[in-house]
Amino acid sequence: MSQIKQGTELKVFITTGDSSCGECGEQLGRHAWITLVEGKGALCLACADLDHLTFLPSGDAALTRRARKHSTLSAVVLKWSRARKRYERQGLLVEEQAIEQAEQECLADIEIRARRREREAARRAELDQEFVSSFAARVRQLFPHCPAGQETVIAEHACQKYSGRVGRSAAAKALDEQTVRLAVIAHVRHAETDYDALLAQGDERSEARAQVHDAVARILARWEASE
Ligand SMILES: [Zn+2]
Repeated sequence: MSQIKQGTELKVFITTGDSSCGECGEQLGRHAWITLVEGKGALCLACADLDHLTFLPSGDAALTRRARKHSTLSAVVLKWSRARKRYERQGLLVEEQAIEQAEQECLADIEIRARRREREAARRAELDQEFVSSFAARVRQLFPHCPAGQETVIAEHACQKYSGRVGRSAAAKALDEQTVRLAVIAHVRHAETDYDALLAQGDERSEARAQVHDAVARILARWEASE
């Protein structure tokens, strides 16, 4: 049987009017699924030997592509859109096993992606850990008399701030002396002075900072002192 192929795609049409099969003569009614065969007109799917195929609706591009690849025989299903005045793709007729195989591959992809995300999260955690250690070491280096443990608190806070952009260059930049100093100042302001209380009672930020400036400077000098 010579089915009309346009390109390499076998086409099945969902009819809009009444039709009958050009081979078996069966009345197919409205909305029948037919193929068009040269010289015979419409053929029902049984006569066209396509009735063993399963319909896979459009919508999942990856699943469709894979199912088509795994199906020895496939046909695209088209329906006339009165509104758009053109045939629109409804889906694909493919072998059942091809759908199953395609579904398995798509599932495997999801698993692969999940595993990749886990690896990335692990790498990020590792990077963060590395960053916290380097940052803490840098605090300790610049402020040798900083109370034990405070350097880690400061480093962890800085890590949160840089989290998501702790690439190597961002991390290196964050270890720059000025950046570390600013992180230490912010920490001292919050942890060792009345700054937060001043903010809580409604003081302007600049005013509150001015009020605690001397206290912060004294603490920094003490932490920095290298006697
Ligand atoms: Zn027929």
